[in-house]
Amino acid sequence: MNRFTDKIVVITGANKGIGAACAREFAAQGAQVVGIARSSHAQIAEEVKKYQAIQFDFATATAERINDLVQGILEKYGRIDVLVNNAGMIRRAPAVDFSEKDWQEVLQVNLSAPFFLTQAVARWWIERRMKEQAEPARLKIVNIASLLSFQGGITVPAYTASKHGIAGITKALANEWAGLRININAVAPGYIATDNTQALRDNAERNKAILSRIPQGHWGEPNEIAGTVMFLASKDADYVNGAILNVDGGWLGR
Ligand code: NAP
Repeated sequence: MNRFTDKIVVITGANKGIGAACAREFAAQGAQVVGIARSSHAQIAEEVKKYQAIQFDFATATAERINDLVQGILEKYGRIDVLVNNAGMIRRAPAVDFSEKDWQEVLQVNLSAPFFLTQAVARWWIERRMKEQAEPARLKIVNIASLLSFQGGITVPAYTASKHGIAGITKALANEWAGLRININAVAPGYIATDNTQALRDNAERNKAILSRIPQGHWGEPNEIAGTVMFLASKDADYVNGAILNVDGGWLGR
């Protein structure tokens, strides 16, 4: 299947973990991937042929700089077909000790940056692309939410706030834009083995508690999230809008 032949797919946090799995899978199905992350993309850029690496730090980015980033991609490729808002970070500390710096950074990277990136792409779509289209196409936006879009989590208050927020804007923007041939949905991963969760796997007690609560009994792999992201970005999901789809080995059903 080549569901994404010549599609321009922008993925944030594409240099590792879930984002890298998405980059590999979209490219394997024909896409030109534009990967955005803060540090080196050397490994993924070597693996994936049609990959453009952009080094960009969302922690310090204003809405204006994010808009410039989008304009640069549009100048180079002429369009964006899919946006995957995947970049994210976590800080762990009890709520009474949680610093303002950590709170602001997590909210900026996990919630504000995806909102302004989505806004910039949607503005272009609404002002230009919709009018140009003789053949109706759709803009697909997939946000990466979390189980902590539904649950409170343990000593990660800013992360939980940001992931409830991302679920909220997924629904809010779907409400506003569904009539404009924009699909915006989210995937809520369960416990996936990436750098983001290394500290949990290194803590024998937490690891055991987590595994015992997952009905499927094991950590998820990044490419298991990529498959659902691609479904939501594909034609098969044209009538799916504002959904938060959990991919969690059964965790939330428990
Ligand atoms: P990961 O391996 O730590 O990857 C995080 C990605 O986000 C990296 O590419 C990182 O780039 C990028 N990123 C972080 N801060 C950034 C910044 N300031 N500017 C630009 N890019 C930045 O984590 P992951 O597990 O794949 O996480 C991907 C997404 O899934 C996140 O939104 C996370 O919250 C969500 N999620 C993960 C799990 C899980 O169990 N793993 C569960 C639920 C949700 P650099 O390395 O260059 O900074």
